[in-house]
Formats: sequence, structure tokens, C-alpha cells
Amino acid sequence: MALLQISEPGQSAAPHQHKLAVGIDLGTTNSLVATVRSGMSTVLQDEYGHALLPSVVRYLPNGEIVVGHEAQAQQSADPMNTIVSAKRFMGRSLHDIADRAHIPYRFMEDAASNKQVQLHTRAGLKTPVEISAEILKALKVRAEHSLGGELTGAVITVPAYFDDAQRQATKDAARLAGLNVLRLLNEPTAAAVAYGLDNNAEGTFVIYDLGGGTFDVSILKLTKGVFEVLATNGDSALGGDDFDHRIYCWILDKVRETSNNFAPPQEFKPLGEEDTRLLLTKARQAKEWLTDNFEAQIVCKLSNGILVDVTLSATQFVELTQHLVTKTLTPTRKAMRDAGLDIADIKGVVMVGGATRMPQVRHAVEDYFKQSPLTNLDPDKVVALGAAIQANALVGNRSENDLLLLDVTPLSLGLETMGGLVEKIIPRNSTLPVARAQDFTTYKDGQTAMSIQVVQGERELVADCRSLARFELRGIPPMAAGAARIRVTFQVDADGLLSVTAREQTSGVEAHVVVKPSYGLTEDEITRMLTSSFGSAEADKKARMLAEARVNAGAIINAVTLALAADSHLISKEDKQAIEAEIARLQSMTSADDAVAINKGVEALNHATEAFAQARMNASVTHALSGKNLEDINL
Ligand code: AMP
Repeated sequence: MALLQISEPGQSAAPHQHKLAVGIDLGTTNSLVATVRSGMSTVLQDEYGHALLPSVVRYLPNGEIVVGHEAQAQQSADPMNTIVSAKRFMGRSLHDIADRAHIPYRFMEDAASNKQVQLHTRAGLKTPVEISAEILKALKVRAEHSLGGELTGAVITVPAYFDDAQRQATKDAARLAGLNVLRLLNEPTAAAVAYGLDNNAEGTFVIYDLGGGTFDVSILKLTKGVFEVLATNGDSALGGDDFDHRIYCWILDKVRETSNNFAPPQEFKPLGEEDTRLLLTKARQAKEWLTDNFEAQIVCKLSNGILVDVTLSATQFVELTQHLVTKTLTPTRKAMRDAGLDIADIKGVVMVGGATRMPQVRHAVEDYFKQSPLTNLDPDKVVALGAAIQANALVGNRSENDLLLLDVTPLSLGLETMGGLVEKIIPRNSTLPVARAQDFTTYKDGQTAMSIQVVQGERELVADCRSLARFELRGIPPMAAGAARIRVTFQVDADGLLSVTAREQTSGVEAHVVVKPSYGLTEDEITRMLTSSFGSAEADKKARMLAEARVNAGAIINAVTLALAADSHLISKEDKQAIEAEIARLQSMTSADDAVAINKGVEALNHATEAFAQARMNASVTHALSGKNLEDINL
């Protein structure tokens, strides 16, 4: 009798239906790909047993493109054609990366692709999307090779603070690499999933992510399988590299001290590039060694013949770097404050990033949160592992299809209304996917087109927010001002991408825009936009009142001027002059910054036109009634 098959734990009971899905952590320094095998999430290795793929792409003179370790090895020999950290430029314009003094590449802006930067390489101009696509292609090849088939789809992780442009750029890169993107997932959310927090816990969690060059802290609230990002903060220039640098400076001091005994100080000119790199590598090795050992010996020979032989103890290392550890707690505190939480509200702390292996970092986090952080998964792999679990669920491999992961919008989305005011349609922190609609109307009689500007931010005035897109709705049937009904729908999909539709309700004319903003926001900008909105609430309220008063005054001046042009014969010359004088007075007031005075001017004009309005009403009633019997009129 044929044997019956039983499925592996955590797998679908129909193995022939098992689809190949992967999670990809597309990192600034390193990238990884993981999948769920036998119910366990695992990172896939290359043929040499490497799990991490350095996020480095090199364009060779013969037209070949190499990615990863091979490219990294040539980084200093061929810096202009060896691109590192492409993630930092994704969805960015030149303006966004203005502070690029330390970046060696030659950039230019591509007007055709929404001002995204491009980099000059020997293979021509390359966008960060194309460069990232090479990394993703390499991971796709690795996964297909290791899983023995074509991938159904991939979940790709992005930082929680990535805006629309950066998310869209990541999706474009994946498509270019031939990947079917199942979902973009926030990195902290992926880390939480890797620890299974979505399965057995409800509550608020902190994801503390200290990588090589950046620090990110996110606070996630989990309720019934829905992750909400309550706050994010960080420092884009703080990471494990800074710890290396502290050791590097310490080595130099030590060598200077000992060498001064027998060599004149001028021996110590600034080190050349090669020596610097050598000492930084030694410093990094010492740092990593000290994670599990009491002391590290640093031995090497500099190009000027000086022999470096120093020993650094774990205690000394902790002292040298204490300020860096403390520095991570400032953004952490800020995130807690933004989320309105106390330490006691935190149910768990997840450690992500290689630099969280350092015991002093773990101790500091434990001291601050008064609980041991979760560290049993490899902090370099945890994001990819979580993404793989999500990918597995999304292609339907999990029998219990209950994994619903949702994120939220980091900033409010809205549109510009008359007077340069912002009407928020989707408030910040709305759970994704989300769709909201609101009706708007025309400002002028006979208006047949409408310009819609989509903005992002917390402030009341468009000038203080960020413009994401502008589009026009044309073909509105001519009607009196305020009669048309234009329904504007904002829709943000599960990946955080926004599309906006405007539809005139009677004629059905419609215009649509998928927002691919021209440039991205930095994490600092998001923070600035949020904090400036907190500090400017009073000023914003005043500005809104002023703008509203001006719009109102403009509309009334417009209406009265039109009425005078049509019907001034109904009133005396003096009355007409009085109205015109009020119009002129109101007109002059609108340029001053005084909402109260403008509103008074509006009142005065309304008062001056009372008799005229009455006369017009009488005239129109007389006109309507002329030639009709009373019985004909339905009252
Ligand atoms: P990531 O960007 O997450 O890959 O983190 C890279 C950083 O983690 C680098 O600064 C590494 O030196 C650091 N790192 C990796 N392993 C260790 C370790 N065992 N102890 C201390 N730092 C480490």
C-alpha cells in the first residue's frame, strides 16, 4: 500500500502547492535573503557559505557587473565605479543629498525620473534603483539556486521612516530585478515578526536597531495582529563604525605616547589612506573580539615602519565608548516621549543590528527599559527572517492564514484648498491600507477645472508642508460657485503608496494621480516636520484664520463686483459708490496680516450691500413672476 504523506510542521498540508517565497533585507551595508523551510525561517547562503551580501555593486571595464564581496574588495581601487550605500540615495534628489561631502560619486539629476539622482559610472549613468536592482538580482539568483525553482514572490524590508518616494524606488528596483513584490515591510515590524511577537503577544514593543552606520529606534504597538508604528527616531550618523573610530583614536594616542620616547613627534603626520584603513580594520576586529573576551591585542605594522602592539581591555573599551552608548538613549527617549509612553508600558525590547552584540549596549538598554532585551536571534539576520515569515504567509503556505501585518502613515496626507491652506484627508498614524474621501467644490462661477495639490505634513499652511504631486481635474460642467461636488479620494496601499482620485459627481469626469513624489524626506526632516507642527500650533491657527479670512473676503469681493457689473442700475449712484468704497477698503485690508480687521471689512461690505441684495432679489422675483398667473406658481 502506498504511504500517505504528512506535511512538515508549519507547512501547508498540500506540499505540491508550496510556493517559493523569500524575505529580503535590502540593507545600506549588507543585504540578506531568507525563506521558511520546514516551518523554520532561515537565511540562505551563497556557495561560499556567506549569509551577508555586501550591498556593493561594481561596474567593470568589460561591461560586467559584480555584486557583494567581489565588488567590495575593489572599493578603494575603483571607488567611482564601485557603488556602496545606494540605499541612501533611493528616491532622492540632489537637493536631498546636499550634504554629500564624504560621498565620492559624481551625481546628476534626472528630470525624466522625477529628479532622482543618477551616478556617473563607466557603464553610464546609473540610478540608485538600477544599482539596488543588481543587489536584488544577486539575491534572487542565490535564492532560486538554493531553493531549486522560480520564486513566487518576495517581501522586501524598508526603514519605517521611508517615505513614498523611497518605498516606490524600492519597489521599482525589485521589479527591475524580476521579483514579484508581495509587500514592502517596515524593518522593525519584520524584526518583531521574527521573534513571533505577532503570534502570542499584544502590547507595545521597542525595536532598538544599531547597525554599522545608523541607529534607528521604533516603537510598535501590536493589537490583534496589527502593528502600528507609534514613533520612530534615530541618528543617521551613529553606529558600530563610531566604536571602531574610538578604538582607532585610542591606538594612535597609545602609539604616539610610546613612540615619543624614542622618536620625534613629527614622525606622526596624518596617516595615509592605507594605514588609516588598516588601523580601522584592526579596531573593528578588536571591538568584535571584545564582545566575548576580556582583552584584545592589536598588532600591525604601519607604512612608516612603526610597529603597533597594544592591548585594549574590555573595561577600557567600555569607558572609551560609554558616550556613544548613551547617545543612543537620546533618540530612544524622544521616541518614547512622542509615543506618550512610560518604561512600564513596554512589553519587550528587540535588538537588531550587529552592533547590539556589544555587552555595554545590551546593558544600557536593559538598564533603561528595566528588562532584558530579546537577543537570542542573530541581530544581523532578524529583519530578513521576519520578512521571510511574512512572505511565506502572503503566498499562502501557512495553514492558519491569520497573519495580518499593517503599518501606519508616518505623516498626514492632504490637499491644498483656497488660500494655501491644507485640508488633511488621511491623518498621520492611520493604519494602512486606508482610503478616505472628502467632497470639495468650486470657488468661482463657471469654473471648469481644478488644480489639486497633494501635500504631506502636519502644518496648516501648504507652504510649511511638502508637496507630493499636483494634478488637474478638467471638464467640470460650468455651474455657480460652490454648486459642483468634487469627491477626492486618497488611497494608501499596504506598502504605503498613495494614489489620489478626483471625480466630479454629476458628470463623472475623473482625474487620477499615483503619487511618486519628486524627492524623499530624510528621517530628520520627518522629525522636523513633526516637531515644528507641535511648536507652531498657535502660529498655525492664526495663519489658518488669516488665510480663511482672505479667501472669504476674496469670494465676497468677487461676487459683489460681478453683481455690480450686472445690476448696478437697480441702485442709486451714491449707493453704488458706497459699495465700491467698501470693496476698495476690504481689498486693501486683505494684504495686511489681520484676520479680525478683514472679517470686520467683510461685515461692513455685507452691510453696505444689504439694500442692493434686496433690490436684486426683488428684481429676480419680479422677473420670475412676469407673465405668470398666481396659480402657475407652485409655492
Ligand atoms: P549591521 O549593519 O547590522 O550589519 O551591523 C554591522 C556592525 O555590527 C558593524 O559595526 C560590526 O562591526 C558590528 N558587529 C558585528 N559583529 C559584532 C560583534 N561580535 N561585536 C560587536 N560588534 C559587532
